[in-house]
This record gives sequence, C-alpha cells and structure tokens, in this order.
Amino acid sequence: MAQFSLELDEDQRRLQAWVHEFAERVIRPVAHEWDEREETPWPVIEQAAEVGLYSLDFVADAFGDPTGLSVPVAMEELSWGDAGIALALFGTTLAVSGIMASGDPDQIAEWLPRCFRDDRDRVAVAAFAVSEPDAGSDVGAVRTRAVYDRDADEWVLDGTKTWITNGGIAGVHVVVASVDPDLGTRGQASFVVPPGTAGLTQGRKLAKMGIRASHTAEVVLDGCRVPGRCLLGGKERLDERLARAREGSAGGRHRGTLATLEAARPAIGAQAVGIARAAYEHALAYAGSRHQFGRAIIENQAIAFKLADMCTAVDAARLLVWRAAWMSRQGNGFPGGEGSMSKLFAGETAVSVTDEAIQILGAHGYMRDGPVERLHRDAKIYTIFEGTSEIQRLIIARAISGRHIS
Ligand SMILES: Cc1cc2nc3c(=O)[nH]c(=O)nc-3n(C[C@H](O)[C@H](O)[C@H](O)COP(=O)(O)OP(=O)(O)OC[C@H]3O[C@@H](n4cnc5c(N)ncnc54)[C@H](O)[C@@H]3O)c2cc1C
Repeated sequence: MAQFSLELDEDQRRLQAWVHEFAERVIRPVAHEWDEREETPWPVIEQAAEVGLYSLDFVADAFGDPTGLSVPVAMEELSWGDAGIALALFGTTLAVSGIMASGDPDQIAEWLPRCFRDDRDRVAVAAFAVSEPDAGSDVGAVRTRAVYDRDADEWVLDGTKTWITNGGIAGVHVVVASVDPDLGTRGQASFVVPPGTAGLTQGRKLAKMGIRASHTAEVVLDGCRVPGRCLLGGKERLDERLARAREGSAGGRHRGTLATLEAARPAIGAQAVGIARAAYEHALAYAGSRHQFGRAIIENQAIAFKLADMCTAVDAARLLVWRAAWMSRQGNGFPGGEGSMSKLFAGETAVSVTDEAIQILGAHGYMRDGPVERLHRDAKIYTIFEGTSEIQRLIIARAISGRHIS
C-alpha cells in the first residue's frame, strides 16, 4: 500500500508545473472565446495531444501513480485554466474508465487507444452514455435496449441518451443498455459502439449555462448493430451475471456504471477545486487593488473574512479530494462514503466560492468579459453531474448509518 503524504513527490510536482504551464499559456487565453462559441475547442485538444497531455500514455501514467494523487493534481490545474476546455480534454476519460471497469484485457487493448486517436491517427474524443430523459440519478430506469441477434453474433441497440458529453462527436461511444429491463441495474450491460457505426447519430446539441466549451448532446440509437465482441466483459460473463440476478442471489449487479462513476468522483472533485481556486485567486488580487473610501477593499474585515473562508474551503476540498483519490487507488473502495464526500464538498465549494468572488469584484465580477462570472456558471454543474449533491449525501448517509435511507 502506497503511503499517503501531503507532500507531492518530485514527479508529481513536475507534472503539476507542466499542466499548470499549459493551462496558463494555452487554455486561459482562449477560455472566453470557446465559452462564447460553445463549440469543442479542437485546436486546443490538438495542442494538448502534440505535447502528450491528451493521450493514452498520459492517462495511463497519471492513473498508474500508486498514491492516486497525479490525477487530481492534473485535473485541478486544467480546470484552473478553464473547466469547459478541461472537460473537452478529459470527458474522454469517462469512456476510458467505463471500458476499464467492465472490459476484458483484449477489449481494453483494442478500444482504449481508439478513444484518443481514430484509425487514421487523428485526434478523437470518446463518450460514456448512461443518462436518458427518464433515467438521470435513477440509473436503473435506463430504457435503451440491447437485444442479442444470435445468428449474426451482433447486439442491436435502440434508445435515446441525453446530456452526453462528446455525444455524437465521439469516435468510441460506451453505451449502457438494458438486456433484461425487469432486473433494473442488474439487467444492464455496457457496449462499445465503434466509430462510424450505422444507427448511432447525434440528436439535439444542447445549449448550457456553463462549461460551454464541452460538447453536450443527445445520442440516438436506432437499430444500431455492434459485433458480439463489443459487449464489455463478454457474453459468458453477462449470462452468468443475469442467471445469478434472476435467482435473486447477491453479486449479480452490473458494477460497470457504478464503478465508473465512483472511481471518477475524486477527479471530478479536483476539477471543482480548480474552479474554486481560480475564483479565489481573482478575488484576492482584486481586493488588494480595488480602492473605495480611500483604502483597498481587502482592508475591510467583511471582505478579508470572505477571502479567509474561501481559502479555507478550497484547501479543505482539496484535502478531501486527495484522500479519496488515495483511497480509490488502494482498491478498497470508499467504506465511509469518502469519494462522495470529496465530490459533494468540492462541488458545493466551487459554487459558494465563485459566488463570493463575484460579490468581491462587484460589477466587474458580473460582467461577461471578465472570467469570474464564467467561473460561477461553470461551477454549478459540479453539484449536478456525476451524481448530484443529494445523491452524494444519500451515499454518505447510507455508508455512515448502515441503513437503507431513501
Ligand atoms: C453538462 C452535462 C454533462 C453530462 N454528461 C453526461 C455524460 O457524459 N454521460 C451521462 O450518462 N450523463 C451525463 N450527464 C447527465 C448527468 O449525469 C445527470 O444530469 C445527473 O445524473 C442527474 O440526473 P437528472 O439531471 O436527470 O436529475 P434528476 O435525477 O431528475 O434529479 C433532479 C433533482 O432531484 C434530486 N433527486 C433525485 N433523486 C433523488 C433522491 N433519491 N433523493 C434525493 N434527491 C433526489 C436530484 O438530486 C436533483 O436535485 C450530464 C449532464 C450535464 C448537465
């Protein structure tokens, strides 16, 4: 078991400095432009790929760190640059995690590289599609059906996914579908839909409040046929799991979706920390330079105390995130709901700290041409996606009480 230390080692410090430099030099200068354009910033993704930041090797190295800290360290810096662009860069990792959670070694070897590069070696993104119009927090309500065509050894997918990051513009889509709807999450499985598969199309592109450089859309599956080998984990394992679920015995649950979401929580929390830290830094600098009534506004206790609280909350959120990232990497899960604590606290902190930052900047904070109002808009998603704040509280409450709280 790797020791937990709050002191980053040399490799982690080098990684932090490298990602920070990219965020400052490449991401920040174009953050406003891509937010206004509300489009995927392909040139930034290509630049990140050129320097090796957007690549399977980078993700493998970061996820391979035995302390677990490399991922949150990198995510915080990217998101400090701009959360929308950060998600455009690392929305792909959700699909990667989905394949890692459910795939066998051959599937992992086949599909992971394709998440980042297409067959002509051009930069690509990937998507992880679970949510549907009637299945948000309630993942068990997924209606997208997967039916096996034995003669062709193909799966046929039908349904509509919504709010999907990189939906429709991705090469690889990982789709969660129901094989046996009577079994809820226990009757679900994950499928890779390879790039260019007929029957998968982008539905409406969705306009958003924040993280607007990240593409969000519906994904329509209409008689979408994928080869049998695209069922993650394989048919034999699925059949065994379904048989156990039908007998009512434990252990038949499709862990792929839950495991993917659970493992991602510290990384998502780290993105929220990056937004909160950026807002705090803007507010601190402004409060020192803005003069009213003949003195810097930071000399008013009302403003200085806000900044003290903001700084404390950012640090507390980071500590929860680092603990959860370390625990996750040790492979023992989150017995006390620690992953949810990190996501819950970091998400709520991002919203409150960016709100206070606008207050400190006054009219300047409210203007569209300054970064702070964007940070506030970006922050809000962190209390909604990857499990809402209420769902995180539910998970923590169940973990600490040992009871089924609903
Ligand atoms: C920008 C963006 C990107 C996204 N990207 C993806 C993606 O890539 N892939 C994907 O699959 N999905 C994605 N999502 C969907 C996201 O995961 C869902 O929005 C989220 O799970 C919440 O579902 P919902 O919006 O339907 O809210 P609902 O589940 O309808 O919840 C509405 C409200 O009710 C509360 N609530 C629900 N159930 C309970 C309960 N049992 N107890 C207490 N309160 C409850 C919620 O906390 C919330 O406040 C994305 C969403 C957005 C906005």
